[in-house]
Amino acid sequence: MIPADFDYKAPTSLDEALSLLAEYGEDAKVLAGGHSLLPLMKLRLASPRVLIDLAQVDGLSFVRDAGNQIVIGAMTPYAALQDSHLLQRRAPLLAQAAGMVGDQQVRNRGTLGGALAHADPAGDMPVIVTALGGTIRVRSSRGERTIAAADFFTDIFTSVLDADEILTEVVIPAHDGAAQAYEKFQKRAIDWAIVGAAVSLTRTNGSIDSASVVLTNVAPTPARATAVQSALAGKLANSDTVRQASELAAEGLHPSAELNASADYKEHLARVLTRRALTAALGIA
Ligand SMILES: Cc1cc2nc3c(=O)[nH]c(=O)nc-3n(C[C@H](O)[C@H](O)[C@H](O)COP(=O)(O)OP(=O)(O)OC[C@H]3O[C@@H](n4cnc5c(N)ncnc54)[C@H](O)[C@@H]3O)c2cc1C
Repeated sequence: MIPADFDYKAPTSLDEALSLLAEYGEDAKVLAGGHSLLPLMKLRLASPRVLIDLAQVDGLSFVRDAGNQIVIGAMTPYAALQDSHLLQRRAPLLAQAAGMVGDQQVRNRGTLGGALAHADPAGDMPVIVTALGGTIRVRSSRGERTIAAADFFTDIFTSVLDADEILTEVVIPAHDGAAQAYEKFQKRAIDWAIVGAAVSLTRTNGSIDSASVVLTNVAPTPARATAVQSALAGKLANSDTVRQASELAAEGLHPSAELNASADYKEHLARVLTRRALTAALGIA
């Protein structure tokens, strides 16, 4: 449980961090909250020669109103997302889900950028940012690029992020008036999701205009439940619609079995959690 030797760098600006990353390349790892990276290092599943700590880099921790968008710094901890009145009002799904990650200690240290860069299929944030139609801004000494969350995650613990890139910001469209909820099932309160379901719906006069439904830990990357979305669009926002649509949640899924759940059980959870999330979002008794 002791990590291999490493050098520790604590840059105070993003430019300095980027030039360190360019210098050390694949030998270096960026350190954010450390709640995923440090356990991996202790298990020697990761042995970076250099750690580049972003803790002292100014300007990476914020939640900002940008009109029809909300911009969030990569180093913003879960606790700040959970407590953000702006998110509670304009993207409540993100505030709610941040409050469901781990325990208070994890939420105080773990960051949105770290969670996205880590790309854990059981992680909550990749699913939430995908469900919200978010985009991810990354920088390197070569320049900046913006990637839709839907294109960011490519496999288990794998994203399009290059070794010399730092995730700097996450941009979420404002979801004023949307009906949103996240449901996850875990064995203990601090655990990762065995399965989760995130929903965001827009409504007019009691009918559902559009639906975004994304599932956690049923595929290597966030899984969009397209059959559920189609079954909701244009329908009355009532319990019959919710029941019929959520029955389709496992369509097209091929989840892997794991210690805590068979593939069949995960499919069952996908249906149950989708129904619960839709019911909660729409406030159906
Ligand atoms: C007890 C416990 C319970 C937990 N429960 C949950 C849970 O319920 N749900 C959940 O989703 N997660 C859970 N987690 C994981 C937690 O959310 C992690 O904090 C998160 O996955 C990683 O964020 P971090 O800031 O700690 O990143 P770090 O551990 O510092 O980094 C993770 C990876 O991302 C890279 N990285 C970090 N920041 C950047 C950046 N800005 N740019 C580029 N690369 C970067 C690092 O190099 C590393 O590879 C739990 C962790 C613990 C210890």
